Amino acid sequence: MPPRTDPSHRIEVIRLDNGACALLARVAVRPGEVLVPLRIADLLPEPVRHSIQVGVSAHALVEPAAVRFTNHSCDPNVMVDTTALCLRAIRPIEPGAEITYFYPSTEWSMAEPFACRCGAARCLHEIAGAAHLAPEVLAGYELATHIRLLLRDGEDAPPRGPGAAPSPPGPGG
Ligand SMILES: [Zn+2]
Repeated sequence: MPPRTDPSHRIEVIRLDNGACALLARVAVRPGEVLVPLRIADLLPEPVRHSIQVGVSAHALVEPAAVRFTNHSCDPNVMVDTTALCLRAIRPIEPGAEITYFYPSTEWSMAEPFACRCGAARCLHEIAGAAHLAPEVLAGYELATHIRLLLRDGEDAPPRGPGAAPSPPGPGG
């Protein structure tokens, strides 16, 4: 069981009836406001189940650890601001609301792709990372800086996908 409450008392993790976990807000937050600041607890070269991609080739386990249980939605209410390091509201959030973010907004190619059942009208159904989505789909979302960079770099490159060879590191890493 994850830590139930965060020291900030602004978020908490609950266990749903189906056994999955969910992150809830304990405070009201307006669009653009910070729900909770993040700290990088560990940096990894490759994604793992609960990591968040914070750079072109950097993946972080973040604290508060409760944030690692944030579920994906194709119609999210927060974004992960990987520059300012925080969860930032993109829609009004009331206390008790589940906190969700759009995983491909930070993840280029996910360690564990999954079939989405978020129920949103614009649900994309298959969530595997930004590399697997059309630019016009991604244009409907707030994207982390490194995802925008990877999309720009990919314009001249052959399509990436499962089985594609990893790109060589570019100038400056
Ligand atoms: Zn969905």
